Amino acid sequence: MPMPTPSAQSVTMRPSHPLTGELAELNDRFETSTPAEIVGWAAATFGRRLVLAASFADTLMIDIATRVDPDIEVVFLDTGYHFAETLQTVRQAMDRYALHLTVMRPAAAAADLWADGPDACCAARKVTVLDSYLAGRADAWLSGLRRADHPGRLTAPTVSIDARGLVKINPIAHLGDDEVARYVAQHDVIVNPLKDAGFASIGCWPCTEPSVERRAGRWSGTAKTECGLHR
Ligand code: SF4
Repeated sequence: MPMPTPSAQSVTMRPSHPLTGELAELNDRFETSTPAEIVGWAAATFGRRLVLAASFADTLMIDIATRVDPDIEVVFLDTGYHFAETLQTVRQAMDRYALHLTVMRPAAAAADLWADGPDACCAARKVTVLDSYLAGRADAWLSGLRRADHPGRLTAPTVSIDARGLVKINPIAHLGDDEVARYVAQHDVIVNPLKDAGFASIGCWPCTEPSVERRAGRWSGTAKTECGLHR
């Protein structure tokens, strides 16, 4: 069967972002910058239109970002399937950092893991929820993604234009495990107790198993490796 030829109507063109021409230079520069310097650039560039999305596996990114801007907006996606330990870490972080935190929850009728499967569940409980939070509120967002997390993240840039047309900044993309451990120890970063219980990566409880192999415990036994937020 011949492949359909895309028509003008079927191709969605996104206008290029004003920062597109600077991305290569910024990414080169940030390879040797500290996370605080990268967050500092983001805060100076985007001001109150910058948001940090936090997963509460630890408070590393929160610690870095709030030292730069104590009033930075932080968002947590409460999928309805988080471990009690993760919610405990959220409470501890609220006490320690006096966070400007917004907890976003999915719609009551959102797709469900058991009925609809993991792709639909992640799309409804994470991706759609973050999309709706960011829309109209943010020009840029910070994430705690690191290249060392997973082979699929090895080439992740520090700054990119994401599928939403927003600037996505990964200030710790280039940090190795030793650098993270050093920062955590030096700054007494709050760490989700599940890390000490053998969970190298922490997501929702039905989709996370203990594992020393980074994200190997996420959606274990399936081909799924990402929830779709980092696109
Ligand atoms: S990680 Fe699992 S439970 Fe959480 S949103 Fe994705 S599919 Fe649903």
